[in-house]
Amino acid sequence: MSNNDNTSSNENPPENDPRPKELRTPKSLLLVHTGHGKGKSTSAFGVMIRGIARDWKVGVVQFVKSGNWNVGEEKIGRQLGVDWFALGEGFTWDSQNLEQDKKTGAAAWNKADELLKSGVYDLLIFDELTYLLNWNWIETQPVIDALVTRPEHINVVVTGRDAPQSLIDIADTVTEMRNVKHAYESGFKAKRGIDY
Ligand code: ATP
Ligand code: MG
Repeated sequence: MSNNDNTSSNENPPENDPRPKELRTPKSLLLVHTGHGKGKSTSAFGVMIRGIARDWKVGVVQFVKSGNWNVGEEKIGRQLGVDWFALGEGFTWDSQNLEQDKKTGAAAWNKADELLKSGVYDLLIFDELTYLLNWNWIETQPVIDALVTRPEHINVVVTGRDAPQSLIDIADTVTEMRNVKHAYESGFKAKRGIDY
């Protein structure tokens, strides 16, 4: 991956505006948050807040979390009028039941695809979609096709580790969260209010 992180806090303030001369307003953007560090989903929910502030119609699909985990972001998202779908329920987490997982994965993606095609959203967050691709629970190409041909006003954020190159290629903004250190490695379990 090319390294565009070319600003450093150790250098003098930049004298030239690094932005291209002719800036255009995009109809919508596709963002990908990937990498092995913490912050992919929380950053997506930051975008959700910005969208809500602009009176956008926002939808969230959580592909791995199940509805009964009741994460904090779901509670507040629903209160703010976000359509929230936690579709991870039904996965067996058992490699012996790949057929069932593929069915559940296909159903979850079909829902997401339907939301995309409905055209009613300004922002859709597909949280942890990459895992379904990486585990071969759904095929990558139909997902890429659906994202490329989406209604042109729909902004999309996709999160999850190890985003496939084909997804990176079609995205406008890709951020890789790099793990420097995580509390988990010191033996701390997930913390309410911080991790969920
Ligand atoms: P978050 O939802 O906190 O933004 P994330 O979306 O970047 O995290 P996921 O891969 O979705 O990360 O993992 C979700 C959970 O795993 C979170 O509770 C998060 O704190 C934890 N986690 C994230 N990165 C790491 C890591 N490098 N080591 C251990 N646990 C991690
Ligand atoms: Mg996440």
